[in-house]
Amino acid sequence: MLKKRESIILVGAGVIGLLAAMRLAEAGFDVSIVDRQQAGQEASWAGGGILSPLYPWHYPPELLRLSFYSMSLHQALAVELKTLTGIDPQWSQSGLRIMAGESDRIPDEISHWAQQWRLNWLRLDGEGALENSLWCPEVAQVRNPRLLSALMARCRQLNVKFIEHTEVTGLRSSQGQLCGLETTQGFLPSAYVIVTAGAWTGKLLEKAGVHLEIYPVRGQMLLLQGQAGMLHSMIMRDHQYLVPRQDGLILAGSTSEIVQFDKSVTTEARQALWDFAHHYLPDLTSAHIIRQWSGLRPGSHESIPYIGPLPAWKGLYVAAGHFRYGLTNAPATAEILVSILTGETAPLDITPYLPATHHRENANPSPAS
Ligand SMILES: Cc1cc2nc3c(=O)[nH]c(=O)nc-3n(C[C@H](O)[C@H](O)[C@H](O)COP(=O)(O)OP(=O)(O)OC[C@H]3O[C@@H](n4cnc5c(N)ncnc54)[C@H](O)[C@@H]3O)c2cc1C
Repeated sequence: MLKKRESIILVGAGVIGLLAAMRLAEAGFDVSIVDRQQAGQEASWAGGGILSPLYPWHYPPELLRLSFYSMSLHQALAVELKTLTGIDPQWSQSGLRIMAGESDRIPDEISHWAQQWRLNWLRLDGEGALENSLWCPEVAQVRNPRLLSALMARCRQLNVKFIEHTEVTGLRSSQGQLCGLETTQGFLPSAYVIVTAGAWTGKLLEKAGVHLEIYPVRGQMLLLQGQAGMLHSMIMRDHQYLVPRQDGLILAGSTSEIVQFDKSVTTEARQALWDFAHHYLPDLTSAHIIRQWSGLRPGSHESIPYIGPLPAWKGLYVAAGHFRYGLTNAPATAEILVSILTGETAPLDITPYLPATHHRENANPSPAS
């Protein structure tokens, strides 16, 4: 447990670092956030903003409990940020229609599964239904670049110090206690650091001899100029999806590629995403394609993040590895971090996310254990 007014540095100003910085500053800590570029330019900007696990029945309860709790916090967060900063993250419960695809079939027992998790999900079969699909009316979306702008504005109101264009190149300790960060702008002393560096977290922590399974997974997106009301809900089939924004822009996503830290975009992905979009929106022409980009997800086993202290280094914490669901799971992650650092009761059982007891470490016990 830390004393109030204690200084904390976060490494990485994506949605995880920014929301944690905001909540920690509100809790009374003196917070700085370092980023090697301008804040909020990586995966958190590149993402689609769907606030739910996709095909949630594929995931273990450890991920679902975190996500469903986090999803319950998003609407209030958007209202709070809009009220305090004037920037509207455009949270909206536009609903998600999941089409049965070739690789992702909707299980027959889906109603029973949804009831167990108290989800209001309806299966649409037979006459009049749109293909064989599952309608999920409660799934919401957020406009993630706006969420990031609002978080940055709120952090500034709370006197969070932004140290941008500064890359952290190493961590320094003395007798097992963290004492600061080596950066491209010199040494930054600090007894408490939280690494929120997304896909780069594993690489950075390796330098401190800490091995966490966090790796980059590239996702490509296409932005299309539709019209407001052209598409009312989000649509997904075989992990490809369309996300309609309120002003008529439509996002088509996404790929999932293991290509190390390569952020280039490909003509194959552009074609595949366009074909998908055009199938559901035949009125669009390729002239409506505005932009293509990619982002690097912080890949982890079953999308379960690491949140909490790293046992080998006193003062060093991590919140990373959210894979496909960092936007979804950011509010719960921030609450968990605050509870750990203040000693307050956590909102849910945090054992599966703590680096020392992480779900992954227990997933594949060796034959000898
Ligand atoms: C195409 C795509 C679609 C997605 N769609 C969704 C979705 O619909 N819903 C959802 O919930 N999630 C989605 N995601 C996943 C989500 O975007 C990520 O899980 C989330 O953004 C991770 O946030 P983060 O803050 O950990 O990482 P990032 O946003 O990547 O931020 C990490 C920050 O750390 C900085 N950094 C890294 N190394 C250093 C260093 N050494 N020194 C200083 N700074 C450093 C980087 O510059 C960056 O600003 C999607 C991701 C992609 C790529």
